Amino acid sequence: MIRKIITHPDSILTKVSEPVSEINDDIRQLLEDMAETMRANTGVGLAAPQVGLNIRVVVLDVDDEAESKKFGLIKMINPRIVAREEEIHFEEGCLSVPNLRVTTSRSARICVCFLDENGKSRELTAEGLLAVAIQHEIDHLDGKLIIDHLSRLKRDLFLKKQKKSAN
Ligand code: ZN
Repeated sequence: MIRKIITHPDSILTKVSEPVSEINDDIRQLLEDMAETMRANTGVGLAAPQVGLNIRVVVLDVDDEAESKKFGLIKMINPRIVAREEEIHFEEGCLSVPNLRVTTSRSARICVCFLDENGKSRELTAEGLLAVAIQHEIDHLDGKLIIDHLSRLKRDLFLKKQKKSAN
């Protein structure tokens, strides 16, 4: 089932999400729905707060052409970055912040631990677009958006413009 995407400035997006304590059929259904919702919106990642739930669940589907590598669908529960290396600058967009592109500074390579949909511990080493996407989605779980990567001046300008178009 495709779920509705929550957009800024909804307060759900700025809350810190809770870890999942029990991986059950509801969580597995949520992961399915999130994957479907992500694909329907041609996104490369989606975090649970973006569909209105403040829990630590993300899905990713990155086709990194630069490395001609297809990672396929990745479902992560309670993801945690345990190692990071070097810096990369990347222009990012977000389904929850339409019409905005932000150049962010991210770690170029990361190692992330998470639980899969069966509750099994997994570890993944990622670089490039996948590494950036994982950091973007974990930001969502911590209540952070791409606008938080803007300079204060650019951020204020964006918020002002958004307020104006809302009135
Ligand atoms: Zn996003």
